[in-house]
Amino acid sequence: MKFYLVHYTEKLANGFGGTAQGPLIKILSKYKDDAGLLAHEKTHVRQWYVVLALVLSLSALVTLMVSSSLWPLCGLTLFSHQLLYRFVRPYRRWSEVRAYRKQIATGGYTSNEFAVNALVERYDLNLSADEAKALLFG
Ligand SMILES: [Zn+2]
Repeated sequence: MKFYLVHYTEKLANGFGGTAQGPLIKILSKYKDDAGLLAHEKTHVRQWYVVLALVLSLSALVTLMVSSSLWPLCGLTLFSHQLLYRFVRPYRRWSEVRAYRKQIATGGYTSNEFAVNALVERYDLNLSADEAKALLFG
């Protein structure tokens, strides 16, 4: 059983080739054969599942130990990865570095400069090119 769903589309926001939201991956149709990009987005789906499992477990424990009235808060766990990704720069950096490492390992690209450039320019990570190279290839 696949742990993700892929939808190929003609347009994505912000000039990205692919996105992952929860278990749903969207990839531009022109990158349909890019195994590395799919691997990148699948990495984000795995991150979403891991954070979901951790936060849901923690929420269940807190609910059982403190008050069952907190149970509705468990619904927030679905968005934990997205919230961490958006608001916690070290998490976003870790998340993208892991995804680009997987993409590079899978993609068989002739050059991997695109990954360095993406980490420097696209995710508000405050990284220099040397720092990005060290994170990706160090
Ligand atoms: Zn990514």
